[in-house]
Amino acid sequence: MSSSKHHPVPLDILQEVFGYSAFRGQQAAIVDHVTAGGDALVLMPTGGGKSLCYQIPAIARQRAGHGVTVVVSPLIALMHDQVGALEEAGVEAAFLNSTQTLEETQRIEREMLAGRLTLLYAAPERVNTPRFIAQMQSLYERGLLALFAIDEAHCVSQWGHDFRSEYLSLSLLHERFPDIPRIALTATADDITRADIIERLQLEEAQVFVASFDRPNIRYLIVEKDSPREQLLRFIQDEHEDEAGVVYCQSRKKVDETAEWLRAKGINALPYHAGMEQDQRKRHQDRFLREDGIVMVATIAFGMGIDKPDVRFVAHLDLPKNIEGYYQETGRAGRDGLPAQAWMAYGLADVVQQRRMIDESPSSDEFKQVQRGKLDALLALAEAIDCRRVRLLAYFGEDSQPCGNCDNCLNPPATWDATEAARMALSCIYRFHQVTGFSFGSGHLIDVLRGKETDKVAQYRHHELSTWGVGAALSEQQWRAVIRQLIALGYAVTEGEYNTLSLGGDAKAVLRGEVRMLLRQPAVPTRKSKSSRSS
Ligand code: ADP
Ligand code: ZN
Repeated sequence: MSSSKHHPVPLDILQEVFGYSAFRGQQAAIVDHVTAGGDALVLMPTGGGKSLCYQIPAIARQRAGHGVTVVVSPLIALMHDQVGALEEAGVEAAFLNSTQTLEETQRIEREMLAGRLTLLYAAPERVNTPRFIAQMQSLYERGLLALFAIDEAHCVSQWGHDFRSEYLSLSLLHERFPDIPRIALTATADDITRADIIERLQLEEAQVFVASFDRPNIRYLIVEKDSPREQLLRFIQDEHEDEAGVVYCQSRKKVDETAEWLRAKGINALPYHAGMEQDQRKRHQDRFLREDGIVMVATIAFGMGIDKPDVRFVAHLDLPKNIEGYYQETGRAGRDGLPAQAWMAYGLADVVQQRRMIDESPSSDEFKQVQRGKLDALLALAEAIDCRRVRLLAYFGEDSQPCGNCDNCLNPPATWDATEAARMALSCIYRFHQVTGFSFGSGHLIDVLRGKETDKVAQYRHHELSTWGVGAALSEQQWRAVIRQLIALGYAVTEGEYNTLSLGGDAKAVLRGEVRMLLRQPAVPTRKSKSSRSS
């Protein structure tokens, strides 16, 4: 292969260095484009093979005499693994991070400055130091700066789920070294994040490569919360006995309680969250990776960089923040390509709580508005009566056909027409305000609609309202679904400490009967005790 020295062929490098026979998906096109000196933005799901997209151009360009590729990566553990694997394959690679001794750092810097390294991995805060910039400048002046690779590029966007301010200054790479090609890579970016990455990293000229985000082996299931822990237990016992899985909860307290409860029910569950002692956390993680059939109950602190191929299910007991979060977290299931399930239970309280967290966060109005939009998209996914996968992929800009492998495709839900019910609910909210000058929460609203004589009803004389008892024919559960949908679609909004309801957005269109609302028929009847008491 002596001729490949001056004109290195990417496929040869893939086979010789990495021992793989063929490129996957768009890898070949990306590698060709970047090796030839083009800029690229690569969107590819986790496990899709992003690393080779810059490693092979780095090797090809080094062999052609262009020198060193600088890889910006935020995760020290990941740098470590990648450099280890590259060295194993005979590639000159190193990383610079804060865990190294001065001697080690100096040795690596010498190698780099001599242009001998093929890939140098560094954290973004290192790249921004005057010392490192001067070193890059020196390489640049001698024609030994081959390529910049920016991994986890969504970190540059505040709309992404993992914003890191140090990423912002990476625009300096382009400003100082304008003719050096750059490749930015990420596994998650919706339209708004994508546009933000392009703007902030000045990648306007870059070719954008979007791989399919479909994970066909994952079955998506979203159920309405009734008694969530029991629902989860049944799901695990019926479908995933002795299999590895992850259960995501929002708070540390809930993680602890859920893990303990599952253990008491005979499930091999362990808790994991950032509030635990470091060694215990590490122990649990190691057990999850090494032993079979452990169910990790965790906050989202668990998962970044954890690569366990045979996770058979991911369950959400609380709503994630948005679809990117949902996609990333559920994406940890079935990395081995075998059937896996993504299960989520959600209810009215989740909707109310997530809205409140956004409202009460100390962010700018613009930021909150974007977050609300993202939450709405997730709620629409949860309430959907058609294919979940079609919706999920559409969110990432991909068209697809009903999948046949999600709950809605497998068991098309029975629906009922809630158009009239939605009008009743909104007009009752309106009357509350008009008559008493106060707003009330969903519990009281349902009582009034169903004509239930509570103390609160008596206190505010709400049995005198024209909407009193107009909805007695519907169950509490049906009413909760109506209200959830109204909130999800922005026709009603919740406010303040008590999550009181008021009219939102285009509520008038609903009141005029212009919005047709089809809802999923509740799968389980409401708990007997309550409904028999009130009917
Ligand atoms: P990502 O960074 O997109 O999550 P990785 O680069 O870690 O994905 O690749 C995931 C796995 O797929 C790795 O084990 C990698 O070696 C393997 N892989 C990537 N490309 C190929 C290929 N063309 N042929 C075979 N295996 C590949
Ligand atoms: Zn489907």
